[in-house]
Amino acid sequence: MARPNLAVVRRATNESRELWLRVLGESTSDLVVVLDAAGAVTFASEAAAALIGVWPGGLEGAKLSDRVHPDDKESLESALQSWMDPNAEPAVAELRLSDAEGDWIPTEATGNDLRANEHVRGVVVMVRDVSHREASSWSLDESSARIVRAARSTSDGLWDWDLTTQHVHYSEKWREVVGVEPDDVTGKPEDWLDRIHPEDRQPFESLLAAHLDGHTEALDHEHRVRTSEGKYRWILVRGLALRNEDGVPTRIAGSMLDVSERKLFDALTRLPNRGTFKDVLETTVERWTDEPERLFAVMVIDLDRFKVINDSLGHHVGDRLLTSIARRIQSCVRPHDTVARLGGDEFAVLLDGIDVPEDAERIAHEIKDLLGRPLTVGSTEVYSTASLGIALSSKGYIKAGDMLRDADTAMHRAKDAGRDRAETFQTNMHIETLNHFKMEVDLRRAIRREEFVVHYQPLVDLHSGRLNGFEALVRWQSPERGFVSPMDFIPLAEEVGLIAPIDRFVLKAAASQARDWQQGHDRLGDLAICVNVSSKQFSRDDLVEYVASVLEECELDPRCLKLEITESAIMQSPERAADILYDLRDLGVRLALDDFGTGYSSLGHLHRFPFDVLKIDRSFVSRLGVKDEPARDQGRGSRNPEIVSTIVALANALSLDVVAEGIETAEHLELLRAMGCRYGQGWFFSKPLTVEDAERVMDADPTW
Ligand code: C2E
Ligand code: MG
Ligand code: MG
Repeated sequence: MARPNLAVVRRATNESRELWLRVLGESTSDLVVVLDAAGAVTFASEAAAALIGVWPGGLEGAKLSDRVHPDDKESLESALQSWMDPNAEPAVAELRLSDAEGDWIPTEATGNDLRANEHVRGVVVMVRDVSHREASSWSLDESSARIVRAARSTSDGLWDWDLTTQHVHYSEKWREVVGVEPDDVTGKPEDWLDRIHPEDRQPFESLLAAHLDGHTEALDHEHRVRTSEGKYRWILVRGLALRNEDGVPTRIAGSMLDVSERKLFDALTRLPNRGTFKDVLETTVERWTDEPERLFAVMVIDLDRFKVINDSLGHHVGDRLLTSIARRIQSCVRPHDTVARLGGDEFAVLLDGIDVPEDAERIAHEIKDLLGRPLTVGSTEVYSTASLGIALSSKGYIKAGDMLRDADTAMHRAKDAGRDRAETFQTNMHIETLNHFKMEVDLRRAIRREEFVVHYQPLVDLHSGRLNGFEALVRWQSPERGFVSPMDFIPLAEEVGLIAPIDRFVLKAAASQARDWQQGHDRLGDLAICVNVSSKQFSRDDLVEYVASVLEECELDPRCLKLEITESAIMQSPERAADILYDLRDLGVRLALDDFGTGYSSLGHLHRFPFDVLKIDRSFVSRLGVKDEPARDQGRGSRNPEIVSTIVALANALSLDVVAEGIETAEHLELLRAMGCRYGQGWFFSKPLTVEDAERVMDADPTW
């Protein structure tokens, strides 16, 4: 359909001012109030309840200024004047409104003079809650704050389309939002529809028709409109149809908001977004065909621990970290370089014009080093290293997308090589990507052929020096690749969804091994066997059931099984994790929190989870006794021994057993013993052993 042809529609009988205003109120989540020239409220929308906890009727008749903070009354007064003056620049008033409890809610108000509109007969004021912004604006400097305000002051334009006469009332703000000269507005639907970008018009008209036909609750669409200058702007349109008693739509009215900014820029960091970055890069790549001697580089940056931070400390902290990261990256590049946020924790930089490839690498390292430094967010110190990938224009790219892809490949390469590093794209990386695929294929086959074996690393009671149990650690014995370390295939298995069969295999193998050992060795009755549960596997619904079935099948005393779960598994969804952990504990198995200290869970929260054991991550233990802490240990450095002893002390107070991982030297052992750490494992005692070697240790029953 070309346009709603509604000539048959009868004029509605119940068209009332209230209805029109209700429509207006429902077309936005802002509080809509209508003021008379003296500033008295003649209408308030439902949003009043959500914003200030006042029933809309409770506002009507009163003066808006009665609700406004004494210091803001003047701004309201002058804003109201500006809204009613066609020649004045419409002001944005920052108003604190008192809510039902007497608290001050920060808001921002913009006005439209619709006193001439027969349905409104007043100044329509849109009041927006900005308390959320107050909280996050700490990171915006003055100039960005101004941009934000400028963007918001282009607030909603209003339109009211009489479907019977096909006349549309466009507010003055509407003309501003769309960017049309007064002469270009005749009051016809075409004023608007003909300006819609050819690609967007048909989808919009279908949506409009669907709404008028009663198929949708509201009209909600984003499309591009052409300004009088011939440029396109993105606008967000919201509207609602009014219907007569027969349900036939008689008019449709709504609001319109310029969202170009949001379409081009990332709302959080105010950096260009992926689309904008690609546009900029496209132009640069095209120019390169003419000036091939001009070198430029694209860098893709991905944070290494963002997910852990976000999951454990919350989005608020995550958001602040991202904003700071954005600023840090910007501080390392020149003003004409482009820094963009590609999405999530991924950023990109276009270094436009470098002399030699090493320039790009140097800047990459500067960025990497700066990002690795700790940041203080509120009372928490957070740190995340970053992995960077670089693609150089000397490869002769024709498409921006290819260059970005190669930078991305290099970034993943940096991750695989251990993170916290920068890699420049080389053609052979494609081959390595292929190898990655090949490994996945091999891994699938390995599962079918059961090419995995389980090794057992002794756990030692540091008081008595005697064997206390074993941790089961999987190994892949590949006919093609030889012995593959879990560090090299567990992350891949998790990524491609192959971890469940591997973990199940290990659990079963370890459980039946433990039972065999218990039957063969009297002394081993209470030796515990520890099995790792991947965070991916942990959240699966059938974990508890599977553990129960293995215990039954292997006839293993549940108390002899300890499941090791990492912090990140818990922090992804603490509520759900707690449920699963309690279910597991009800089975009688014991639970260990693995790699403690690498995530952000605090000891204070641990009492929510039924853990029996806490395993201090190897990275803490390996730094014990090291005199000169390297600068890149991200701030934990010299305080490391205190951190470890604090963890031990608090864990003891919470009645948790503590296991120190990665004890490699006698010095580690002595320090840990002195701190009161009860259990440990590490190469100082023994590397992970085959079944036969583990049995030899049990027979020898050494005292370490
Ligand atoms: P993890 O659970 O923290 O296991 C301890 C790791 O530290 C093991 O590495 C062990 O060999 C190593 N290790 C022990 N003592 C020392 C020491 O003194 N010095 C050093 N440098 N390393 C020591 P491994 O076997 O390579 O396993 C690495 C990780 O792979 C494990 O860390 C665990 O997260 C994962 N993993 C191993 N087996 C399984 C499994 O069956 N399922 C799952 N989901 N993950 C597993
Ligand atoms: Mg473990
Ligand atoms: Mg561990």
